[in-house]
Amino acid sequence: MSFLLKAAASSRQLIYKAPTQLQQLRHLNLLEFQSKDLLQKYGVAIQQFKVLDNSKNDAETVKTFDCPEYVVKAQILAGGRGKGVFDSGFKGGVHITSNKNEALSLSRQMIGHRLITKQTPKSGILVNKVMLARSVNITRETYLCILLDREHNGPVLIASPAGGVDIEAVAEQTPEKIKTVPLDIGKPIPEATLLEVAKFLEFKGDALKRCADEVQKLYTLFKAVDAVQIEINPLAETDNGEVISVDAKLNFDDNAQFRQKEIFAMDVNEEESDPREVEAAKHNLNYVAMDGNIGCLVNGAGLAMATMDIIKLNGGEPANFLDVGGGVNEEQVAKAFEILTADPKVKSILVNVFGGIVNCATVANGIVSASKKLQLNVPLVVRLEGTNVIKAREILQNSGLPIQTAKDLDDAATLAVAALK
Ligand code: GDP
Ligand code: MG
Repeated sequence: MSFLLKAAASSRQLIYKAPTQLQQLRHLNLLEFQSKDLLQKYGVAIQQFKVLDNSKNDAETVKTFDCPEYVVKAQILAGGRGKGVFDSGFKGGVHITSNKNEALSLSRQMIGHRLITKQTPKSGILVNKVMLARSVNITRETYLCILLDREHNGPVLIASPAGGVDIEAVAEQTPEKIKTVPLDIGKPIPEATLLEVAKFLEFKGDALKRCADEVQKLYTLFKAVDAVQIEINPLAETDNGEVISVDAKLNFDDNAQFRQKEIFAMDVNEEESDPREVEAAKHNLNYVAMDGNIGCLVNGAGLAMATMDIIKLNGGEPANFLDVGGGVNEEQVAKAFEILTADPKVKSILVNVFGGIVNCATVANGIVSASKKLQLNVPLVVRLEGTNVIKAREILQNSGLPIQTAKDLDDAATLAVAALK
């Protein structure tokens, strides 16, 4: 399970913590109800649902939706909602009730408030919509994820009978409860593999076959929509032996936008996203939140991974990554700094840029103007190499700012970790 980084309270889903997945970070995210629309289209078993948005229609929607029991779920682009807390103090982004009026009033306690979970920024994420679904009697919660994985050069399936809310803890404490199966992108999953997965997930009797069918449908969907990740947590077994995708998170390959126009047209979820990601995306930057306290500005996903490794080797933990990519300009660098330093966890900053297409002097100018403007009060370590690096070093030296320049990558990580003390 080398792809699973240290689990802990941090950013988005499990996958975002995997170093091999950094390069697959994409901007398109769908809310749960949008993901479930897609699941349904592909015949995946989900709970019937309606969407509430605090409009006048809500009362009518609830009135005409008859269920013995409801589950009321805040729609934000982050997991851990069940255990989350609203900025109002109201507890839980997932509630169960058998009373229609209570369902409506629960939705009103969610919409318009910010929900704070393990995966959101400290200030939480604003809830604009609520999913009202037919509750199912869950007897067991399993975990299923299909993702594109670099290590396997293709899609892999990750399964665990210990699903539910905290898969990171399972990965860390009981790794034997996680199974990874490489899949062939050109073919459906062989029946034998499906049954093996279903068995590993501890489905029995009729449910075994049902689980196998659900997994195959999810794989068909995965390929048809150009997903890079489909995470179902929980894939639940109900008291009448059904196998249902109770929670779903989908991520898509941005390069497939041209042939997935309908899906990309659904991406209107800025408010429900991590505001730092949104802000970064607006400036063509990639932001990934992590657990540690070293803020990292890098160019390119490969360098991001190398930077992560070397920080860890030196006993540190990255707080986040801001990838400025290829043709970066001064303003983007300044913006990147703004986003990095907005995180109070950041206690030192490491800039690691290799100037290939990027001109190091541009980066240096960006760093200097941002440091001055933001009155940076955490130690800053810079490692620049490549195009126009001599000029870049001059710019940093002549800035009069207390910037530590590193000889190489190792030196940079050592300095950044030492600066924490
Ligand atoms: P998350 O907290 O953001 O991962 O949201 P989930 O949709 O996964 O819901 C959290 C937990 O609430 C699940 O793991 C279930 O234990 C529970 N839950 C969600 N939907 C239902 C439901 O329809 N019936 C029951 N009994 N529990 C549910
Ligand atoms: Mg969940």
